[in-house]
This record gives sequence, structure tokens and C-alpha cells, in this order.
Amino acid sequence: MTRTKNLCVDLIPVTVLTGFLGSGKTTILAQLVQNPAFVDTAIIINEFGEVGLDHALLEASDESIVDLSCGCICCTIRGDLVSTLTNLYERRTCGEIQEFKRVVIETTGLADPAPIIHTLMQEPKVFDNYRLARVVTTIDAVNGMRVLDHNPEAIKQVAMADTLLITKNDINDPLGIGPLTDRLDGLNPGAVRSICIHGETDPMYFFSGGIYDPSEKSRDVSNWLTKEAASSRHNHHSDINRHGSGIQTFALLRTKAISRGALAIFMQMLADQKGDDLLRLKGLVHLIENPEWPAVVHGVQHVIHPIKRLYAWPDNIVQTRLVFIVKGIEKEWVEDLLNKVTDSAYAGLSV
Ligand SMILES: [Zn+2]
Repeated sequence: MTRTKNLCVDLIPVTVLTGFLGSGKTTILAQLVQNPAFVDTAIIINEFGEVGLDHALLEASDESIVDLSCGCICCTIRGDLVSTLTNLYERRTCGEIQEFKRVVIETTGLADPAPIIHTLMQEPKVFDNYRLARVVTTIDAVNGMRVLDHNPEAIKQVAMADTLLITKNDINDPLGIGPLTDRLDGLNPGAVRSICIHGETDPMYFFSGGIYDPSEKSRDVSNWLTKEAASSRHNHHSDINRHGSGIQTFALLRTKAISRGALAIFMQMLADQKGDDLLRLKGLVHLIENPEWPAVVHGVQHVIHPIKRLYAWPDNIVQTRLVFIVKGIEKEWVEDLLNKVTDSAYAGLSV
């Protein structure tokens, strides 16, 4: 494999933003797209479900954002990542889109970064025009330890990072972060670390860096990439079982508005009764009290975040959209709970 281009000048730098479900990737991106230093950045967002929300949550102009929904770029739609990057480059070359100077790829929360990094470093259609510059991983100060205990993907996300952004410090007891810091020391002592409050971070964590260098990481990282190289030589098909069969995603859509009180009760009951299996809940909600703007809801296991707002309904479609990533929770059970809460005395409550 020979490259004729000057690696750091001619090739467009790509930063992979990864981090487990609900660890704050989109919150960080939403802040960054408002930062003048972040203009000229093309963003590729990968989401599992058939209803993509992250694009709307960014509240940025459409042109430089590409949604890759309905699959995961580490496994089922790895080829789509290659074609998306190729297509972006072609459109940039012929002037169809603005001349972006860098690309940020936001992975799904369950993504194994190894196949993505392997693809970016070894796929000729990609490395002819792009260079993998950095891997940035979010790790949640509230749920981080538990996530690392139960999810091998999260271990890889941390171990392969150049930068670790420790999120949700605004809701975590600052004294409680010590064990997590020790754990990160063991997994990836060389990574730059930054504490994020309310999702704020410095764009430089995304832009600095020449070329991603696995040799600077633990021996595990090199082994994972070697394994990816071997499996991609023998298997060109997507690996649909990478995340196990127990994880499902579904969406609930509703046009009828919901009261703030009913929404709060619904979210709390979900977290209380199914929190262990509620990997992620996010959505836009049509509130009776504020129909003109969508309320943004986020939940991760037993933690429900305060409601925020967007300034307008995406595509002017006024509709509640709740996306769930769960382990074994039936869609019907969730739908039934929502119906019961909105039909009951709670429906009129305002909190
Ligand atoms: Zn995957």
C-alpha cells in the first residue's frame, strides 16, 4: 500500500467519536457544532434504530451532516461507512457541498471501535483521501464503572482512545470519580483526559493529532486490530451477531400531546421498573404545555436526565418520537405503560 499524497496535508483528517450508550456523545457534538472553530466539519452520525434522532438534536445545518441509521457501522453496515465517505469526497470535489476540512464520525453506543478503526486505516477507498487522526471516547462519570463492568465494547472504546472525555460531572458527586479514574489508568494510561461539564469541551480534542497510532496504546489494541485484519480477509460479510441477540431497538411515535406530569411519571416508572435493561432512551416529546417546541428527553438505565428543549420541530413535524435500546424489554410493555400513564389521573399533572 503506497500513498502518493502528503499524509498530513492532503488527506482529510477523520476523528471517531465513540462512547457507550448514553455517555453524552450527541450532547458534546451539539455544543461543538455551535462553536465557530467547528465549521468546515462534515459529521457522520450512526444510529441503530429506524428513527434517527441525533441529527435533530444537533440543531445544525443539514448540508454537512449525514445520517447512517438502520444499522451499526461496526458490524451490519460497515460497507455504508466506506460508501458514505467516498460519496462525501466526490460531492466535495465537484463542489456539490461545501469544502469540509475534516470529518467526525459518531458511532453507535454499542460500537466496537476495532472494525471501524480497521476500516478507516486499511480500506483503500478510504485511505486514498482520508487519514484517521484521532479516536475520542466519552465515558460517563455516573454510570461509567458499571458500564465497563458489563460491556466489553466499552472497554475497547476506552482502550483505543486518544482522548477520554469524562462526562456528566454536573450530576455526579465529584468525590465519586476516583475509582473510575483508576480504572481508566489501567485501561489507557496514555490518553489525554478532560472533564466535561454540561457537555462542553474544547474542539482541539477533536482536531489535533496527525495519524492514529495503535502502537501508542496497550498491547490489546494491536491484538484487536490484528484480529480484525484476519477476520476481514476471511469474511467479507457483515457480522450481525457482534452485539449479541439480546439487544433490541424500537421506537414509539405519537401525535397526541402528553402532559409534563405524565411524561415524568412514565420516565420514572420505566427507570424504576426496567432500569437495568434500559440501555438507552432518547426522544422528542410533544407536550400539552409547550406544543410549539419539542421537549428532549434522555434516560440511561436508572438515570433520567432533566427535560431540555429544541427551538423548533425538525421538518415541522409535530410528533412524539421515543427511541429505545433495551435488553429484553417488550415494546408492547412500554407502549402499554405510556398509554396507562397518559390515560390516568397522572395525565393532568404538571411538574
Ligand atoms: Zn456494531
